[in-house]
Order: sequence, then C-alpha cells, then structure tokens
Amino acid sequence: MKNWVVGNWKMHGSLSMVTRFIPTLLDGLTEVRGWEQAARVLICPPFPYIAPVAQKLTGYAVGVGAQDVHPLHQGAFTGEVAAPMLAELGVSACIVGHSERRRYNRESDALIGDKLRAVVTAGITPILCVGETLSQREAGRERQVVKRQVMSALKGLEPAAFAKVAVAYEPVWAIGTGRTATPEQANEMHQYIRTLLCANLSPEHGSATPLLYGGSVTPDNAARLLALPDINGALVGGASLKAESFLSILKHSLN
Ligand code: PEP
Repeated sequence: MKNWVVGNWKMHGSLSMVTRFIPTLLDGLTEVRGWEQAARVLICPPFPYIAPVAQKLTGYAVGVGAQDVHPLHQGAFTGEVAAPMLAELGVSACIVGHSERRRYNRESDALIGDKLRAVVTAGITPILCVGETLSQREAGRERQVVKRQVMSALKGLEPAAFAKVAVAYEPVWAIGTGRTATPEQANEMHQYIRTLLCANLSPEHGSATPLLYGGSVTPDNAARLLALPDINGALVGGASLKAESFLSILKHSLN
C-alpha cells in the first residue's frame, strides 16, 4: 500500500502562499526518485484556494483535497459547498469529521456519516478522522470512542464503497499541541481500527483501508511513526504549511 502524506492547511494560507508553496513542493519532488510509486500526496487548502492549487498541480501526481463538505448535493444552504462541486474542481479526497469540526461545529457521528456517503457518491475519497480526547484516554475509553466513530461512519455503506475510504486516527490531545502519540500508542490504535474494519466489513476491505496518523507530525517524528506496520501515512496540519517541512515528512514516508 502507498503511504499517504496529506497536508491540512486548516484556515491558513493566501494566494501568495499558494504561488510560493506549490512550485517549491514540485521542485523538491523532482529530486525525490520514485515518490509517485511509493506515496499518495495531497494538499487540502481552504475552499477559496482549491481551484488555484488544482490548477498549479495539473499534470503532477499531487492531488488536491477539501477539508469539509455538506452532506447534500445541492439546495438552499447558504455558505455551504457540495461534494459534486468539489469533484468538478478536481478534488480527489475530502477530510470528514475532523476533530475541530466535531468540536467547534458540533458535528455529530450521524452528520459525519452523511457527509462521508455524499463524498463517496461524488467519487471522492473521504478521509474519515477519528480520535479520542485527553479525558477520554485518561478514563481508558479511547477504544470505545474510536469504535463508535468508525462504526457510525460505516453504517449504510456497502463494503465495496468503504474500500474507497481512508481513516485518519488523530488523538485530539495530539492535534496542534506539539504532543505526539508515541509510536506504540499510535500503532496499537491503528491495529485496533484494522481489526474493527476486518471484522465488520471483510478481511479483504479492512486490510486494504489506508490508516493515517495525525497529531503534531513533524519532520523529527515522521520517520518513527511512518515506519510502523499499521501506519499507512500521515495527516499533517502545522508542518504542512511550509513546503520544506512537508517535503521532509514526505521523504520520511518513503523509507
Ligand atoms: C490536523 O490538522 O489534522 C493535525 C493533525 O494538525 P497538527 O499536525 O498541527 O497537529
């Protein structure tokens, strides 16, 4: 399986950043032999920058992703963006259920499941984010929380459709905090998610689902995390805002 390296710019960036970042990334990639065979690379900028990023990436094996989507395909929902609109812009993946949206926008598991199905229907790969808060981990409830998040997203999805989904385990206490899960903590949860998927879909689909880790991934810790057998990539926030650090993480994913 390819290692995924996904940059989530969150609500950062500008047109001038796009103009500097994308050529620096593409230049850097020309020096990395064989990366296209080994990695799936995606940049998820804020909505207004999707089109300019996509345009600059035309002809390169770097994809553009979105950070969110509305669960319906059209309608009177002022300010919202539908999955077919993203597909039209060339978006190939969409983050769904990021913990910041669960927290600040009060997104429920049911809504996240609806978004996930809308994304799959539009032919876009959902990157389903799951993960426990610090208090949930301290209470020993991390598996229970992650199981609920994964299972409710799976509901109503054909096993074959789930084959198009990637899952990102992002412990909430590790996002933007500089506090990374230890490789053992991350790998243990990834193994648990893998077992869940195999038991509830099919061993074939469960073992083919890319499982990404997210939470303060940097060039300094990427190699250790990405070397683990059940970690198939990284969802990178802060360190994806500089082309140099994003490239460095990408290089670690190839080792
Ligand atoms: C994220 O945005 O999903 C994330 C993991 O952020 P950070 O790398 O900054 O912790």
